[in-house]
Amino acid sequence: GSADAEYDVVVLGGGPGGYSAAFAVADEGLKVAIVEQYSTLGGVCLNVGCIPSKALLHNAAVIDEVKHLAANGIKYTAPEIDIDMLRGYKEKVIGKLTGGLAGMAKARKVDLIKGFGKFVGANHIEVALTESTQYEQATETGSKKTVAFKNCIIAVGSRVVNLPFIPKDPRIVDSTGALELRQIPEKMLIIGGGIIGLEMGTVYSTLGARLDVVEMMDGLMQGADRDLVKVWEKMNAHRFDNIMTKTKTVAVEAKEDGIYVTFEGEKAPAEPQRYDLVLVAAGRVPNGKLCDAEKAGVAVTELGFIEVDKQQRTNVPHIYAIGDVVGQPMLAHKAVHEGHVAAENCAGHKAFFDARVIPGVAYTDPEVAWVGVTEEIAKRDGIKITKSVFPWAASGRAIANGRDEGFTKLIFDAETGHIIGGGIVGTHAGDMIGEICLAIEMGCDAEDIGKTIHPHPTLGESIGMAAEVANGTCTDLP
Ligand code: FAD
Repeated sequence: GSADAEYDVVVLGGGPGGYSAAFAVADEGLKVAIVEQYSTLGGVCLNVGCIPSKALLHNAAVIDEVKHLAANGIKYTAPEIDIDMLRGYKEKVIGKLTGGLAGMAKARKVDLIKGFGKFVGANHIEVALTESTQYEQATETGSKKTVAFKNCIIAVGSRVVNLPFIPKDPRIVDSTGALELRQIPEKMLIIGGGIIGLEMGTVYSTLGARLDVVEMMDGLMQGADRDLVKVWEKMNAHRFDNIMTKTKTVAVEAKEDGIYVTFEGEKAPAEPQRYDLVLVAAGRVPNGKLCDAEKAGVAVTELGFIEVDKQQRTNVPHIYAIGDVVGQPMLAHKAVHEGHVAAENCAGHKAFFDARVIPGVAYTDPEVAWVGVTEEIAKRDGIKITKSVFPWAASGRAIANGRDEGFTKLIFDAETGHIIGGGIVGTHAGDMIGEICLAIEMGCDAEDIGKTIHPHPTLGESIGMAAEVANGTCTDLP
């Protein structure tokens, strides 16, 4: 068919997966366009996800850290919070990063086509052009543009799950609404005890809200080992009135004096509970069904995922898919890695997704980070492991920081001795887990890690110490 423009590669979606792929494709000398419906690049992660949540969490962590100093004789009065300025800070952070991306796109001569793209054939996407001044808000202009491609990378990401029984009300928000920080409620309910809900809960609680959380599974922060989560729970108990695990939300009613929520299950209170703010963080669904991928012959699952092979190819060989739309874990660093694999294949190299592990981090206080085989997975899959733990109560740096509640755990294959997993709970755990990822990728054993000289005194040293525990050579334990 006819097209307004032709490209070697069209990338559908400008999130971390999409822009990383497009930049890599451009660096290979190919002609590339990104189709994105909103005004900025960066997708969920930069605009309404990873980055704004961390901008707020940083401020919350400093407020909380200062409270710990009271025990050392340094007392602060309660902080005065100008919520408009705090929101402004968060906006500025987003602006810096999305602005940076726009500059990088321009420098690489990547065309940005602002609009909602749908496949109209195996080599064509029709874009309904949009006006957008804010992320997650766009109106179609009525104009259309058809682009032709040799290869396409689908990077359409995911969106919030909407629970059908929840009414529309400004006091009921999703993660985007929570990040807007319009109000600090007295009493807040978090529906869904996963990372996103607990991170936002941390922010609101530090700013003054009392929290309830409801979670269908038998524990918060699913995926992480329970020993790690226990430390987080102990340190965060003060934020919560009620932690309702193995419990479901069954009815939500918006009344003048608050949002009334009815629960069912093990920890359900008999009466409906009243809240000033309800955050729905019950998961995310892939956007695979919204772009007519079927018209290009691309198979989309019932749930909206697009299945790919190790080269990120869909069932249609010249169409790739990456990021949240191809499956769990829905994380930005996974999307970027997959984007690079797809880009290399578009450029005619033979690249495969062969990462051994993908780390997960809850940027709470303390942070919880884990990677690879957890004790839970080992038990479920019958993998024989040995583990070694270094408690931060024996870490000079953690003690000096007044934050020695954490620990570092390494998990080894019992037969080969190679490290296959690890977990850290404690301040800055997320910044440290990368070393364990590298050790796993390199096939290290406890000796490799333990004999690596780590700087003293650091929290990162606890990884070396945990390996020395495994080696039986840890001299620093009391
Ligand atoms: P997305 O970021 O979803 O981007 C897809 C883009 O495609 C969107 O901009 C969308 O507008 C556009 N699009 C979709 N369909 C079309 C179409 N048909 N036409 C045109 N444009 C289209 N991950 C982490 O790793 N670390 C974190 O700390 C973290 N924190 C998070 C906090 C929150 C509150 C949330 C919600 C998520 C968080 N995530 C985090 C997850 C992370 O944001 C996602 O994994 C990541 O953004 C996925 O990238 P992606 O490129 O697959 O898709």
